[in-house]
Amino acid sequence: MDSDRHRRVKTVLLIVIGFLLLILGMVIGLLLGSVINDHSPGSGKESSGAVVHILDDVSETGQSSSLSVPDKAGDDERMPASESLEESSGAQAETQTGSDMQSETQTDSDMQTETQAGSDAQEAADSGETPQDVLCIVLDPGHDDVCSRNHPDLGLNEQDLNLKIAKACRDELKTYEGVEVFLTREDGSCPDNGVGSDDVTGRTAYAESVGADLFVSIHNNATGLGYPSEANGAEVYISVYSAYTDESRKLGESILSELTSQVDLADRGVLTRIKPEKGYYDDGNVKDWYYLISTSVERGFPGIIIEHAFMDNPHDNELLKNDENLKAMGIADATGIAKYYGLEKK
Ligand SMILES: [Zn+2]
Repeated sequence: MDSDRHRRVKTVLLIVIGFLLLILGMVIGLLLGSVINDHSPGSGKESSGAVVHILDDVSETGQSSSLSVPDKAGDDERMPASESLEESSGAQAETQTGSDMQSETQTDSDMQTETQAGSDAQEAADSGETPQDVLCIVLDPGHDDVCSRNHPDLGLNEQDLNLKIAKACRDELKTYEGVEVFLTREDGSCPDNGVGSDDVTGRTAYAESVGADLFVSIHNNATGLGYPSEANGAEVYISVYSAYTDESRKLGESILSELTSQVDLADRGVLTRIKPEKGYYDDGNVKDWYYLISTSVERGFPGIIIEHAFMDNPHDNELLKNDENLKAMGIADATGIAKYYGLEKK
């Protein structure tokens, strides 16, 4: 009886266990089926589908070259998971490349945005006299009637010539958009800002006070050897300060190109001159000879000197005695500056 009952219980238990095993087997089977399905070509396409989605994002931006990748993934039905990953990451890499390319194609607009942001920041930072999206040019008519007269006995006073040229240059520059022009002096007075005879410092200090982007000192030349000298023509001095030299040279060439084509002046070129006794700029270069240039650099803007003509040369001397020529020189200076900066007429 006992053993019979035992046997029945055993049988029932076996049946129950068998049932449980069967159910377990079915569950495992279902689970396995699902796992196998994940590696089926169909799901491979789904995986590619994800890639396609990424690539679609790229294609939306016009990058369609990577669209061959999902076809390739779809063709390889037996692709192991690892390869699939490689392919997938390969596709992602291409996608990455695509977006890199997209970044590159957006460089221009990015730069525009940056420029915009930059000018906005500058505008915000500077609410002073000259808005920062306006080019601020300070013209400096060299010498004056008080501090630094230069009136060689040649029927000419350099300070007067320089002032006439500077005023013509200002009037012409004012016919362009986006530029503001200041003069260090409007008459024969000394623009020394109370510094006394050290008018050079006063001139560049004034330029700094109005927010100069460029300081242009306007002069006329002489050999010092007396009349008649052979040297003649126009030359432009620029800074050796490394941040300014290349651009100042282009500006100088632009001005000389106008001066020598609009007025009968020889082209003596764009020049530099240094003075070791003055020491070094922060870029390690020996400072420029002229304080008008070196103090401009020290104040944070490029300074140039235009020597228009030789007062002690017979040919140039005759030119300088005619106000129309002085006006033409000023207009040539302005035109050279405007062309260099790409300014447009109002
Ligand atoms: Zn001078």
